[in-house]
Amino acid sequence: MFAAKVGLNKKMKLFISHMHGDHVLGIPGLLQTMSLLGRTERLSIFGPKGIRDFIDSFNRTVPYNLAFELETNEVKDGLVTREPEYDVYSAWGKHVIPCLSYAIVEKQRPGRFNAKMARRLGVPEGPLWKRLQMGQTVTTKGKTVNPKRIVGPPRQGSKIAYVSDTRPCKAIERLIKGADLLVSESTFDNSKKDKASEYGHSTAGEAANLACKAKVKRLALTHVSASYDDPTILLKQAKKLFRHTVLANDLLRIEVEPLEK
Ligand SMILES: [Zn+2]
Ligand SMILES: [Zn+2]
Repeated sequence: MFAAKVGLNKKMKLFISHMHGDHVLGIPGLLQTMSLLGRTERLSIFGPKGIRDFIDSFNRTVPYNLAFELETNEVKDGLVTREPEYDVYSAWGKHVIPCLSYAIVEKQRPGRFNAKMARRLGVPEGPLWKRLQMGQTVTTKGKTVNPKRIVGPPRQGSKIAYVSDTRPCKAIERLIKGADLLVSESTFDNSKKDKASEYGHSTAGEAANLACKAKVKRLALTHVSASYDDPTILLKQAKKLFRHTVLANDLLRIEVEPLEK
C-alpha cells in the first residue's frame, strides 16, 4: 500500500475470503500500522463466520487502542455491501473450509462530457456543466441547451472478480460472469490436479477454463504455491486455454475499462 501510494486514511473496506492463516494473519499488523500512521477514518471488514471472533480476540490479547472505528461484518453469499458507485457480491467456493469469493460490480456511469461542444454552445464551465452531466436541460443567455448534445450515452460500469481458494464450481462461475478482470487463485500447475482436488484449490488450467466458461475479459493468476521457483509454467498452461492471462505480482497495474456498448 505504501509502494502503490494509495494512502492509509481513505475510505476503505476489507474483504476476507476465509479463515486460513495466509488470508487473515496479516490483518492485526495492517490495522495497527494504519492506526500508528494516523488513520482516523472508520474501516469496515467483511468476511465469513469467525472473522469477528478473530478480530475481537487479537484486539483483546494484543491490546492496542486503534485510532479509528472498526466495524466487522460476518457475511454469506449474495449482496455484501452497497455503495453509490458500486455493489459487492459474494459466493461460496469449494475449499476445505467455508470460503467466499467476491465481485465488485460498478454501476452505470454517466456518459462522456463533451467540453468542447459545451463551450461552443456557450455554456460556461461550472454548475451548469454539472446539471448537464446529470441529464438536465439548462438555459444560458436565453438559449436552451439539451444535455443530449453534450453528454454521451451512459457507460456500462466495470466488474472485477476475485476468486479465492476454491475448486472450480458453478456458484463461482455465476459470480464472475462477464467480469472485465478476474483475479483467480491458481495454486498448482496442471500436473498436480490430484493435489488441487485434495486441498480444495485450482490448477492453472482450471482457472483458465473457468475464465473461458464465465466469458471474462482478462485473467490474472495469483496464490501460486511457493514451491514453484518459476511460476511461468502456470502461465503457459493457462494461456493455452485462455489467451488474455497474466501472472499477478505485487504492484502490477491492469487498466480495467469495460467495452463500450
Ligand atoms: Zn485456504
Ligand atoms: Zn490460501
